[in-house]
Formats: sequence, structure tokens, C-alpha cells
Amino acid sequence: MMASVGPASDTAVAGLPLSNCKLCLSDRPLVKSHIIPEPFWKLLKSEGETPLLHSTIPGDHAKRAPIGVYDKGILCQSCDGRLGVWDDYGHKTLLRDFDEVCVYEGKRLAGIFDNIDYKKLKLFFLSILWRASVGSQAFFNRVELGEHQNRLYEMIRSEDPGDPDEFAVNLLKLEGGQSRIILSPARTCIENVNYFKLYMGGYVAHIKVDKRPTGKRLREVALQPDGALYVILQDLRESGEFEVMKRIVIISAEKKRKNSLSE
Ligand SMILES: [Zn+2]
Repeated sequence: MMASVGPASDTAVAGLPLSNCKLCLSDRPLVKSHIIPEPFWKLLKSEGETPLLHSTIPGDHAKRAPIGVYDKGILCQSCDGRLGVWDDYGHKTLLRDFDEVCVYEGKRLAGIFDNIDYKKLKLFFLSILWRASVGSQAFFNRVELGEHQNRLYEMIRSEDPGDPDEFAVNLLKLEGGQSRIILSPARTCIENVNYFKLYMGGYVAHIKVDKRPTGKRLREVALQPDGALYVILQDLRESGEFEVMKRIVIISAEKKRKNSLSE
């Protein structure tokens, strides 16, 4: 594995022991970094109390974490800065109001963000998944990517977002009730395809970790390089998976209709 040579100033962070940065693989002082970027935690805080973390790991009980979960053993300063560009784009994009909301029979079905930079946003999600998989925090230790680990690393290292189906991303946003809770990442299976769910400030990003193609229903509303991002809105007070699927079908139909109108 080659190691890139970064700016000399990296090694000048005085007094810190050197370790292998998990991205550039160089011996450098590592910096403290959040796995889920800080603005998503701040958002929880601004809603009132200190964020309550719910871990899905047995014996690891819910706890309050005033500044979120961070890791000191992943990245050197230079690599942290590289990923920081995507973090910045990610939170600035997601933590603003939707450009449009899709309403059907009085229900908010989906939020739409226009003019999305596919490369930056996709790499934002992929880098969070990757950081969760290489970090040492118990909160994230369920993220084991197996045979997909190397490919994900290469994509981040070479800043390659892949095609929309590779580590496909689907976004859901929880509304109503305690929607801004943060849970540790979890595995899930949709239409017989494996995903990891990452919870971040009300969003639940579903990232496909599977060589099989995205199922028919999700494919239509996955993150794509066509500029618009569809976020499925899920009211917490409503039932789960079935309601979500129904929404996706309606939104897909609506999206197709719009696209055919604009052609
Ligand atoms: Zn590095």
C-alpha cells in the first residue's frame, strides 16, 4: 500500500505521539475527530437537552454525550481536513430547509434538495461509514464491512464516489416526536439487499453494503448525479417499513412524471 506524502507541517504538531493515520497510512500525530460531524450533534443540543445516545450494543446503555462521539485514533490533521470538506458540504446541505416538499393527500411525503453535488454528498456519506468502520468507539463497533472494506477505502482515498448503485445512498428523515435521537448504526435488509443505517440529526442514511443491485423501489429515489435529492419523510407516529415503502412508490411515480414533463 502506498503512502502519500503530505505537508511537512503535519508532523510538527508538538508533543503528540505518532500513529498510523488510517487514511494516508503515514506515521503522524492523530487528531480528535467526530465520526458524525459536530453540527449534527449541536442540532440535537439546540433542541433542548444534551443528546441522548442509544446504543444497540448489548450492555451499552443510553447515555448523554455533551459533545457527541469522537475518536482520537483515525486521522492525521491533513486527512481530517480532506474529509472536512465533505463534512462541511454535507451538513450545510442537509441542515437547511428543503427546496421543495412533496405533499400527497395532505401528507408530507418527501423533501427535495435541488442542485446537489453528487460527488461531494456521496463521499460525505461514504466517509462517515468508513470512519465508523475503522474507529474504536463502542458506539460504532457494529459497523463491520467485511469484503467491502477495501473498496470503500479506495473510493475515499481516490475521491471516487462510484456510480449511484455502488454503496447506494437513500435518505429518510424522521419527523414528529423524538425524531432527533441518535442511535448507533444498524444493519438492515431492504428488498433482499443489505444496508447500514446511520442516524444523524433526524436523518437516517441507508448505505448499501452489498454487491447486489438496489431494489426496484429504492433505486428511483437513491442519491443520483441528476441534481435533485429526494428525502423520504417518515412521521415517527406512523407505522414503519410499510408506510415508507408506500411513500417511495408514490414519490417514484411523481418523480417520473416530473422528468417526463421536463423532457
Ligand atoms: Zn492521514
